[in-house]
Amino acid sequence: MQAILSIQHILQEVFGYGEFRGPQQAIIEHVVGGGDALVLMPTGGGKSLCYQIPAITRQRAGLGITVVISPLIALMHDQVGALHEAGVSAAFLNSTLSGEEAAQVERRLLRGDITLLYAAPERVTTPRFLAQLDCLHESGHLSLFAIDEAHCVSQWGHDFRPEYRALTVLHERYAGVPRMALTATADSLTRADILERLQLQDARQFVSSFDRPNISYTIVEKRDATQQLLRFISAEHLGDAGIVYCQSRKRVEEIASLLCDEGIAALPYHAGLDNKVRQANQDQFLRSEGIVMVATIAFGMGIDKPDVRFVAHLDMPKNIEGYYQETGRAGRDGQPADAWMCYGLQDVVNQRRMIDESPADEEFKQGLRGKLDALLGLAEATDCRRVRLLAYFGEASKPCQNCDNCLTPPEVWDGTEAARKLLSTIYRVQQMSGISYGVGHIMDILRGKSTDKVTQRGHETLSTFGLGATFSEVQLRGVLRQLIAIGAVTVDARAFNTLQLTDASRAVLKGEVPVRLRESVSSPAARKAKRASMPAVVKAPASLDADGQSRYVALKAWRAEVARQHNLPAYVIFHDTTLTAIAQRAPQSLDDLQGISGIGAKKLEAYGQEVLRVMAHACV
Ligand code: ADP
Ligand code: ZN
Repeated sequence: MQAILSIQHILQEVFGYGEFRGPQQAIIEHVVGGGDALVLMPTGGGKSLCYQIPAITRQRAGLGITVVISPLIALMHDQVGALHEAGVSAAFLNSTLSGEEAAQVERRLLRGDITLLYAAPERVTTPRFLAQLDCLHESGHLSLFAIDEAHCVSQWGHDFRPEYRALTVLHERYAGVPRMALTATADSLTRADILERLQLQDARQFVSSFDRPNISYTIVEKRDATQQLLRFISAEHLGDAGIVYCQSRKRVEEIASLLCDEGIAALPYHAGLDNKVRQANQDQFLRSEGIVMVATIAFGMGIDKPDVRFVAHLDMPKNIEGYYQETGRAGRDGQPADAWMCYGLQDVVNQRRMIDESPADEEFKQGLRGKLDALLGLAEATDCRRVRLLAYFGEASKPCQNCDNCLTPPEVWDGTEAARKLLSTIYRVQQMSGISYGVGHIMDILRGKSTDKVTQRGHETLSTFGLGATFSEVQLRGVLRQLIAIGAVTVDARAFNTLQLTDASRAVLKGEVPVRLRESVSSPAARKAKRASMPAVVKAPASLDADGQSRYVALKAWRAEVARQHNLPAYVIFHDTTLTAIAQRAPQSLDDLQGISGIGAKKLEAYGQEVLRVMAHACV
């Protein structure tokens, strides 16, 4: 009871939050009590508090320091800065520190002057560092190990880091010290691997719901991807921070400069950029308002910026896990956010080709294809996207009313006949010529176009020539995507992307498997009319009245200045949601500021008076 009271107290006092979210309380109680844990929570679910509160509680109980192992070297400075702002003593050790700086941290460590120490895995397992941990351990001052981004230990996860494998030393050398592993990667293969690799078989497992209700999912058919992206941003997200994911470095560069040309503040991020440029772009994204980061998947792990309002995929990712992690970076503050993806036939072809051409063994490739198929199924779905996503993670749910298919149910048409015609065209061409052809040629035959290629090969004599003339090209491409998604057609990357029939084709040809398709909608934008677009100046929440809005704008300007002085992102000082609550309340005394979510004791002491001063000046 004492422990429960005190963790509730720390939540309020240190972080300024009134309530735990989801399973946070159960996890924290378990770990405070010295238990091992595996924590699976979606991106943005609130994992950090799950180790930070036990670290603080156990330190206050005289049990010593918590070591947080994390691969996120580029973010440690800000993570530690955020803890300092909340009045928690923290430090980090990684390769960005000079020898003298590292030595200083080590001295603080041995003095017991640190509650949370963030360290990169390669640092933790050095003999020098282990010797220091030995000292702490012997004197009973090694309290807890938190292994963040724990999926990095697994080859099945998408961010495998060999250094994570060496972390078994923690268990062997410090057997009595509790350990917790945290990740947002939910698939069972990775989970089993984490437990085994980190020797956490006896740890209690906490699996949260993976739902992120404030994120609205939309998947549109790709026509002119860059224009579609521009329209999406202009119509719904001008002035917002967002992330645009692209497949290749070249495309990242192109899209970033295109957005800049259109007056949208965008920066590129990919592994080919110089380290310094990458870090600078990341810092700018985190520190400035309303920047759009155009990136490959090299960007994003651990990015805890709370006010990312949209994540757009211009190319299709490899699987649902990747898609969900990436989209999860939107809306960590719980406010409405968009996950928008634009996808087309070429995406399917490219992803298949990458799998086919990879050097992995056939069994592994089969696994990858299965995962890709699940994502294709999601993209082609005509029912609730969220229901599908959550089902993939093993959760049952009801239609969400917050995805494109729920908000604007697509017209569905029966594509069975078109599918049969398409399949028999592929079949007959193959029979006649002895070889297969690609999408363009098959479409030409089906739609009855006598191109040179068609006539030279005598394909206008085929019985299926022109059979699909009543369907539009867009419709036929939709049919083909669906056929690929259900495995009734494959694209052979080793033979010029030619279309091939499969065992599954027969059932469709016989009419045994109905093919239901979404009608292509030409303007999918209408649904968002309720969320009006805003000018690219500081956006004040519409929930505030005019005076509230001017208080909000003043608070934002003040916060930007404080953040600049502290060399930290603005949200580390106060989240937008906290500023909104302050603007709403129009506080006149420190008492009025008490209890606003996000204002802990330290921040009240450090900033309370200044906030009151800003309020007084804003209300003229
Ligand atoms: P994760 O690491 O799981 O992706 P974070 O730990 O970064 O997520 O938390 C996401 C956001 O939610 C952060 O901005 C954090 O301050 C906020 N948050 C976490 N727990 C709570 C809570 N109990 N009440 C209010 N906000 C919370
Ligand atoms: Zn839905």
